[in-house]
Amino acid sequence: MSNNRYKLLIVEDEQHITTLLRNLAETEGFQVITAKNCQEGLLMFSSHRPDLIILDLGLPDRDGKDVIRRVREESSIPIIVLSARSDEKEKVLSLDMGANDYVTKPFGAAELMARVRSELRAGRKGPEETRLPGGRFVTGDLSIDYDARQVTVGESEIRFTQIEYNIVALLSQHCGRVLTYAAIIREIWGQSDAGSVKKLQVNMANIRRKLGERPGDNRYIANELGVGYRMCRL
Ligand code: CA
Repeated sequence: MSNNRYKLLIVEDEQHITTLLRNLAETEGFQVITAKNCQEGLLMFSSHRPDLIILDLGLPDRDGKDVIRRVREESSIPIIVLSARSDEKEKVLSLDMGANDYVTKPFGAAELMARVRSELRAGRKGPEETRLPGGRFVTGDLSIDYDARQVTVGESEIRFTQIEYNIVALLSQHCGRVLTYAAIIREIWGQSDAGSVKKLQVNMANIRRKLGERPGDNRYIANELGVGYRMCRL
């Protein structure tokens, strides 16, 4: 599929990263426009109406999160944040402010472009429509029948509690995208309380055990440390 109808805006002050990203994206057929600070980024956003923004948070004039806030006042286009490795708080804040996903610097080219494609795909179809006909979801060997609330891995049915199933179904509906702990807790239990994260971790440990995953070898659900969980697109 040609990507050339998609226009990407890259907001990044480090020239070598911008060049790398531009080459990558253009090789895949995207149109690319760039900006090297917040002000320029917002200007390019208003005048060029890109389909997706790749946004560095550490920009010379203002905090990159300003761009998220301003763009979200008028648009729901995907925003992928570039963030430093250690900055879990920044990642969570960015996601809470409306960024769709983040990639940790230094990032792998393949990983970033996969996220870009994933966001553009998700934007084209609503979460409902990423399900296969008949209310099914499939990633690798994992399959979910939403109508029957049934999860199978290969040939075997996995017996989840109601809560566990709800978590797995929620992650599957946002497959490929990280969901913060707070976002998951809000969806599953409503309001969060002091014990919520612990409760989520306990459920997640059970889910992964039942899926046959071992610590450090998580095929279906990735733990983004300090941020949240992501169901992997396989
Ligand atoms: Ca920077």
